[in-house]
Amino acid sequence: MTDEPLAPGLYIVATPIGNLEDITLRALRVLRSADRVACEDTRQTRKLLDRYGIATPTISSHEHNEAERSRQLIEELKNGARIAVVSDAGTPGISDPGMVLAAAAIAAGIPVYPIPGASAVLAALVASGLSTEQFSFVGFLPPKAGARRTALEDLATGLSRPSTLVFYEAPHRIADTLADVEGVWGADCRVALARELTKFHEEFLRGAVHDVRNQLAARETIRGEMVLLIDAHPLASGSAATTSVQDRLAELEKSEGLAEKDALKRIARERGVSKSELWRELQRERARSK
Ligand code: SAM
Repeated sequence: MTDEPLAPGLYIVATPIGNLEDITLRALRVLRSADRVACEDTRQTRKLLDRYGIATPTISSHEHNEAERSRQLIEELKNGARIAVVSDAGTPGISDPGMVLAAAAIAAGIPVYPIPGASAVLAALVASGLSTEQFSFVGFLPPKAGARRTALEDLATGLSRPSTLVFYEAPHRIADTLADVEGVWGADCRVALARELTKFHEEFLRGAVHDVRNQLAARETIRGEMVLLIDAHPLASGSAATTSVQDRLAELEKSEGLAEKDALKRIARERGVSKSELWRELQRERARSK
């Protein structure tokens, strides 16, 4: 560790996502030597600073005041201040505030230094068992059911090759999101759900989306912070569950020689619906096309 004084500039500092030991020596030195720490929530960051005996003054900079706060901090940076920016957990700017300030500093010709460390995206990815060769971080999906389904279908049809898709998700939405994933990529699509990373109740559920859904459905409650990863394959436009039941049925009968009964069973699994529900949809489609 160097004893050199900190150079003037803006420091984007990653902090732990659960386990308070997940912070680098350099991050601690920067937080200790900075003139100020700009925090998403000063009370949250104070717990971390106290744990390491760091007395640097804090200032709030969150999504509601980031633009205005940036102007003030940029003036201080222009006068040679050393400012560290942190979010509540993980890497600032990754589904968290921080980027408005970084962009403003860059525009003002102020040096911006990344201080890498924990981020739920990479922690989940490297232990998911899914390919790390090509992955896309999507952040949070839209909360409304229709928009979420459309976003997943757009992702599926927009892929040019297999890719791991990484999402942040809330516990009260995960069951519906997994149902949509099954509807778009089918029951056998491999997923990983990383819950409470680096914390006492850390858990990975890995396997076919249908099985992971069943595991969650068997629980009384679903809690904690979570990252969802999908082994996503490109789908031709319209081959997700937006295809009619009749067309998918014909496709499976032709390409795999399945009997109607077996094909319907497969389609129901792909779409995460019951066989009777699917049967009713098929009858509606047949009535419409008469
Ligand atoms: N900036 C953070 C980062 O670098 O990971 C992410 C902030 S975002 C507002 C918070 C979301 O990240 C949570 O809702 C959850 O999806 C994910 N997350 C954060 N910490 C996590 C953890 N310990 N385990 C699993 N997911 C986590």
